[in-house]
Amino acid sequence: TQSTRPQRLLGAVKKNATRGDPRSVVKAIDQFCRQKEWAMNVGDEKGCILDSVVSELNPATVLELGTYCGYSTVRIASMLPPHAKLITLEFNPDYAAVARQVIAWAGLEDKVQLVEGASGDLIPKMSEQFEVETFDLVFLDHWKDRYLPDTKLMEECGLLKKGSVLLADNVICPGTPEYLEYVRASPRYESQYFRSHLEYTKVEDGLEKSVFLG
Ligand code: SAM
Ligand code: MG
Repeated sequence: TQSTRPQRLLGAVKKNATRGDPRSVVKAIDQFCRQKEWAMNVGDEKGCILDSVVSELNPATVLELGTYCGYSTVRIASMLPPHAKLITLEFNPDYAAVARQVIAWAGLEDKVQLVEGASGDLIPKMSEQFEVETFDLVFLDHWKDRYLPDTKLMEECGLLKKGSVLLADNVICPGTPEYLEYVRASPRYESQYFRSHLEYTKVEDGLEKSVFLG
């Protein structure tokens, strides 16, 4: 049987990264994606912006929407303080299976809870099933038409508090126009664009950082 791209990406991690060393896992994935096969990870260039937001915020609770192979999960989790928790949601079981192995290879399984399922079903269950009242940081990187409805759902479920940060990837490419319009026009958010490039390309893309004002 033929392997899938995520399985080949996992193979590159096992071949080239050191167990327990998150930076080497990130590096092995970026190398694979630049030299062998493009993949939809946030990537090295936007990844540095993600890192700076995480380190500035030093969040205790993080929600990631869209795990894929666990690349951004590893980047975020490796920077979290000791008792912090990252919940990441992925509805494709094949991707989730690869991500579990990537996260374990990085030695970060104790910091990360990977939950298989659709964001629209899981967001309302966060406080009851996952014992999280609010998130300090949410990284939105799942299907682009879900950014806005899931943001409204997080608001309704009380998962955002004053100072919570939404960091949204791919707001230009593929683009999330309704979401951008919403966070930029709403008096409940202070929003800022970080210009960059689509992962592993020279095409313009960027991250939108939106602070929830309550
Ligand atoms: N954040 C990852 C990274 O940078 O390494 C990349 C995530 S990829 C761009 C988007 C992922 O979101 C895909 O794996 C897809 O299966 C998943 N996804 C899309 N819509 C979803 C939803 N509503 N709930 C859960 N997962 C979803
Ligand atoms: Mg992305």
